[in-house]
Amino acid sequence: MTEDNKIVKHCKLCLMTNQKPFSINETKNKLKDQKKTTLSFDESGNCFACQDKIFKKSIDWAEREKELKDLCDKYRSKDGNYDCIVSGSGGKDSMFQAYILKYKYHMNPLTVTYSPIIKTSVGIKNLTNWVNIGGFDNYTFSANGKVLSILTREAFKNLLHPAQPFKVGIKTFAVKMAKNFNINLVFYGEEYSDYGSNKMLPDARYPIEWLINDEDVNDIYLGGSQVKEIKKKYNFLRDQDFIPYKPLTSEDLKKFDLNVLFLGYFLKWDPQEVYYYASNNSGFIPGDYKSDGSYGRYSSIDDKMEFLHYYCHYIKYGIGRCRLDASQEIRNGHITREEGISLCKKFEGEFPKRYANDCFKFMGYTHDEAMKIIDKFRPEHLWKKNNNKWIRKQEIF
Ligand SMILES: [Zn+2]
Repeated sequence: MTEDNKIVKHCKLCLMTNQKPFSINETKNKLKDQKKTTLSFDESGNCFACQDKIFKKSIDWAEREKELKDLCDKYRSKDGNYDCIVSGSGGKDSMFQAYILKYKYHMNPLTVTYSPIIKTSVGIKNLTNWVNIGGFDNYTFSANGKVLSILTREAFKNLLHPAQPFKVGIKTFAVKMAKNFNINLVFYGEEYSDYGSNKMLPDARYPIEWLINDEDVNDIYLGGSQVKEIKKKYNFLRDQDFIPYKPLTSEDLKKFDLNVLFLGYFLKWDPQEVYYYASNNSGFIPGDYKSDGSYGRYSSIDDKMEFLHYYCHYIKYGIGRCRLDASQEIRNGHITREEGISLCKKFEGEFPKRYANDCFKFMGYTHDEAMKIIDKFRPEHLWKKNNNKWIRKQEIF
């Protein structure tokens, strides 16, 4: 983190700050203090996601849809096989994508699921509904839980990013399945630029280099350490225990016509609309309660670890789940910036009380041990302690 980044700047339009790190190739994510590229603003003070939203107002969506139709015509299976892959676990986005591709554009998607770290009951229901109500074939993969528990524990301790190994695994999963089934088209949902996780891409394509690491499995980084170091520490682990986390190599993709595309490039993407669509067509159900740390009930509700992940994000960057949800709704015109600020005042940074202990237990930490680790990651420019209570610094309200 540079000196400059220690001064928190807020976007003029939404509530994002310059503390938000960009998505990176996590298998090259070495140390907790590794310098990361973070969100920046244009001369008017608007963040990438807001600039992207303004740009998108000028898009001719009919023209974009035509591009999608042409692409589907090119890749649609003529022999009854699967012709594209949609990866998800029955969240609203994957439900929307699979359904619209199958029933509107007459594709034959294979849905694939990389199992959540700790499933929630609503997540289990949604996966069932996706297959049974939406009507799709689905392959579900579960990574070895014993190994995942160790990797999650390491990632929490080294990076305060417990979901990192899971995110590494899920990132290449759809493409690995595409290769296994010889399917040339993989669809992702929203473009990363929509929520400020990266700059806008020039076209619909997901950059394949983000998935590739040509190093030997022992040299890749998982949870802040190299695999060979993890194997030394937990000496019963072997190379094959890391198969789900092994990135693709350039060799893997050499003779394979692979297209990884964001459906959000072709179709106008509004999370609220996507939610209604998924619930009407594939039986998507929201959580029973609002999510700890925010006010919403329908985003990232399938994995208990996601709740802890957002809390850790809040501790490290001062950007919690509420701010991410509210910023998106501000951009989509559903709430005002002022309403977003009062929502953050009320909900941002709430401790994930419902699931935290299940997550700590999964990693083999007691509540106190875990809380000690969390407190170590509070940056001085964002936090101070007053009468034994942590107080946010440089806040917007
Ligand atoms: Zn913004």
